[in-house]
Amino acid sequence: MTKTSGYAAQSKTSPLAPFDFERRDPGPKDIAIEILFCGVCHSDLHTVRNEWNNAVYPLVPGHEIVGRITAVGKEVKAFKVGDMAGVGCLVDSCRDCIDCRDGLEQFCVNGMVFTYNSPDKHLPGKMTYGGYSRHIVVDEHFVLHISDKLNPAAVAPLLCAGITTYSPLRHWKVTAGQKVGVVGLGGLGHMGVKFSHAFGAHTVLFTTSPGKAEDAKRLGADEVVISKNPDEMKRHLNSFDFILNTVAAPHNLDSFTELLKRDGTMCLVGVPEHPHPTPNIANLIFRRRQLAGSLIGGLKETQEMLDFCAEHGIVSDIEMIPMQKINESYERMLKSDVKYRFVIDMASLGRS
Ligand code: NAP
Ligand code: ZN
Ligand code: ZN
Repeated sequence: MTKTSGYAAQSKTSPLAPFDFERRDPGPKDIAIEILFCGVCHSDLHTVRNEWNNAVYPLVPGHEIVGRITAVGKEVKAFKVGDMAGVGCLVDSCRDCIDCRDGLEQFCVNGMVFTYNSPDKHLPGKMTYGGYSRHIVVDEHFVLHISDKLNPAAVAPLLCAGITTYSPLRHWKVTAGQKVGVVGLGGLGHMGVKFSHAFGAHTVLFTTSPGKAEDAKRLGADEVVISKNPDEMKRHLNSFDFILNTVAAPHNLDSFTELLKRDGTMCLVGVPEHPHPTPNIANLIFRRRQLAGSLIGGLKETQEMLDFCAEHGIVSDIEMIPMQKINESYERMLKSDVKYRFVIDMASLGRS
């Protein structure tokens, strides 16, 4: 075991604070990574504050990890010491079920292991600890190649916000000529806008924050709609092929489902603490509309997304923070005041 340190929550009400713990030594298939940057996802906040009723403390969050490889096990083939590497939301799965075989490890029927707050297969009785820390040890299968063409700090959010928006846009085959909505301009939403634009769709951003309209256009939106304005919303009735809804709070879904065309789909990726009001089913039935969900993406698709981003020069728009500002950043995230992803500079841990 190797000593390391990071930031952890000790309860649902305590702020994140410095925490010392141990990582396993790399086994034959493992990779040890010195973490350089870690993005701050709204899921970190939901988990730390036990909004999903599954938190085990102490809890070290963080699943948008980019760093440099410091050691590789003797069976590791695809990576070497010194390479840049990424780790997203998953660090293990059974590798044998139908979902794992299909490259959809996020749906592993025998239980995927999340990067934090999951029982750790390698350390029985312990939970996994995430990327708000100096270093991590991960099986090669769950490590991603990071291109040196892109700013590594701005790549970190691709590991969750990127794949969570890329995957449903690909699954529902968003393409040029379609009209696509993205709801919420936060960490996920701003990546959704970038990908939808890159796939050639006519992209409409729905926001509750009028002050984000200019940014949305710069990020690739063709139109911006203030979702609190019913007249603006009505202009788009029955017109969308696909809507990606990234909102992290309960809200009325009907005002979006009624904007879908016949056979259109709205995919939810936000996981609010409390349920949405029950949607109007007639809204779905009478136009054969679909309400769907999507969870991050498998390892193969995550690498495909990273390669797509390297080829097209796509990264997240970030605000870099020192580790010590994490609690303040959570408060700002709750006020929708993120442009558009906080990324922790792990060098700051040395200054704790
Ligand atoms: P975020 O950065 O906080 O962005 C959420 C955005 O939603 C806000 O910026 C805001 O955009 C909008 N919003 C917030 N409160 C709202 C309200 N009451 N009504 C309407 N809009 C509201 O969060 P994120 O990191 O993008 O995560 C979004 C959600 O996705 C979270 O619930 C997170 O846990 C979940 N998530 C899911 C997956 C998955 O695999 N399915 C993966 C990662 C994250 P505007 O200011 O533009 O309105
Ligand atoms: Zn996330
Ligand atoms: Zn499996």
